[in-house]
Amino acid sequence: MEYSQETIELATVISETCISCGRCMRDCLFLQKYCEDPQQLFQRFLTEGLEPIIPYSCMLCGRCTVVCPLQLKLDEAFLAMRRDLINEGVPLKRLRSVQVHQKLSTSKLFTAVNRGDDK
Ligand code: SF4
Ligand code: SF4
Repeated sequence: MEYSQETIELATVISETCISCGRCMRDCLFLQKYCEDPQQLFQRFLTEGLEPIIPYSCMLCGRCTVVCPLQLKLDEAFLAMRRDLINEGVPLKRLRSVQVHQKLSTSKLFTAVNRGDDK
């Protein structure tokens, strides 16, 4: 899998500057499921890549950036990975669980308003 220079740069910034404080992990079930902390996750991406299900499981909500003391943009990095996967022809139909997840997570039942405060 070939990732774009933009994706590599976004991931490198996170892997080199994340201080593993864990603030973003507190509210994000996705991060809790797939990593010990973002630094470790993005280092893994840069050295061996990630399973496509991982970038597709981020909801791109931006909550992590709001609470991060460095305002690291994890959502931008995951979105860039997703663009690269599409450009490489990884079809979404191979990710049916993601389709179900996105359908449910945008339903009224599971949708809340993120006001961006740090509480
Ligand atoms: S943008 Fe992704 S990583 Fe950040 S809090 Fe939302 S789901 Fe978690
Ligand atoms: S909040 Fe920012 S610095 Fe802290 S673990 Fe998350 S990405 Fe790293």
